[in-house]
Amino acid sequence: MARRKKIYEGKAKILYEGPEPGTYVQYFKDDATAFNAEKRAVIEGKGVLNNRLSEHFMTGLNQIGVPTHFIRRLNMREQLIRQVEIIPLEVIVRNVAAGSIAERLGLEEGSPLPRPIVEFSYKDDSLGDPMVSEEYIIAFGWASQQDLDDMVALALRVNDFLSGVMFGIGIRLVDFKIEIGRIYDGDYQRLIVADEISPDSCRLWDMKTGAKLDKDVFRRDLGDLADAYTEVASRLGLMPRNGSSSGPKLVN
Ligand code: C5P
Repeated sequence: MARRKKIYEGKAKILYEGPEPGTYVQYFKDDATAFNAEKRAVIEGKGVLNNRLSEHFMTGLNQIGVPTHFIRRLNMREQLIRQVEIIPLEVIVRNVAAGSIAERLGLEEGSPLPRPIVEFSYKDDSLGDPMVSEEYIIAFGWASQQDLDDMVALALRVNDFLSGVMFGIGIRLVDFKIEIGRIYDGDYQRLIVADEISPDSCRLWDMKTGAKLDKDVFRRDLGDLADAYTEVASRLGLMPRNGSSSGPKLVN
């Protein structure tokens, strides 16, 4: 059988040429990496969970008018997406101190921040995705001032939406990362949310117990990562808990 063309392979996903011009197929792998891929594992079922979770969040965003690359899910591990020109920045929004901001500023993990804080990292694995200022972004031409304003506005809308969705299922959205891409429409360009939104790229804490339901479970060896992601998916009504005898299985 003819194999479709692979466009790009990253740590957790593969992009293939899509069925129509302007589309890609995004395949979610089971690979988990942390600390710039120094720590690696294969977590059975993670790709299936993230495909389903990212579909859920991106569909919701599309429905409330926050544009994303998501078109439709194709199967357990793949989704059809719009081709975008990725801006080489990770856009991080933080509601609560955790991870690198806690370390950098000596804040206790879990202390609230005065307001949601948006920050940017330059996407370059060989450099460890260093944090960069808006001044850097404009000076090096990664994005314009208008792009930056649009990116902050998009990121804050995603934050409001995701915080609300998570609050509804008893989970605190501590922080998250998104990637943003450009699409061209004649002479106009528009910025849309790309990549994925999943517990791989968010910090999610149970509101009652404080239990971590995100990739920190893997980074910090806190338990079974697939169980944590399944908990999020189950609370959202997307799939049965592990061990349930009915409904779709997690792993294909
Ligand atoms: O490590 P740090 O505290 O800066 O991460 C902030 C948020 O961005 C976390 O939710 C983390 O999972 C996410 N992130 C990511 N990919 C990176 C860096 C951070 O998804 N390369």
